[in-house]
Amino acid sequence: MAKWEDFRTCPGCGYDFGLDTGERSCHYGRCPYIPEELNVLCDQCRFDFYSMEGNPSCQDPATCEHGAEARGNVENVRAWREMFLPQTTT
Ligand SMILES: [Zn+2]
Ligand SMILES: [Zn+2]
Repeated sequence: MAKWEDFRTCPGCGYDFGLDTGERSCHYGRCPYIPEELNVLCDQCRFDFYSMEGNPSCQDPATCEHGAEARGNVENVRAWREMFLPQTTT
């Protein structure tokens, strides 16, 4: 099991990403402790590719070259969240 798959509770603020409980001092995705594999923010504009939220400074965040790595991590985040969201139906 990869390290990021074990990540669940933020060591900084104690926020539980699985249960969505705890003191959320850092927003999900912006948490400084979040593993690189779960980073879904564009390096350049901090656009969130998972929630598709943010204020992209690039013309098209969906194709922005700075976000290539982050976009590739969206799949990781989906799989990761599914591990502790068993009620999710697709
Ligand atoms: Zn945190
Ligand atoms: Zn960008």
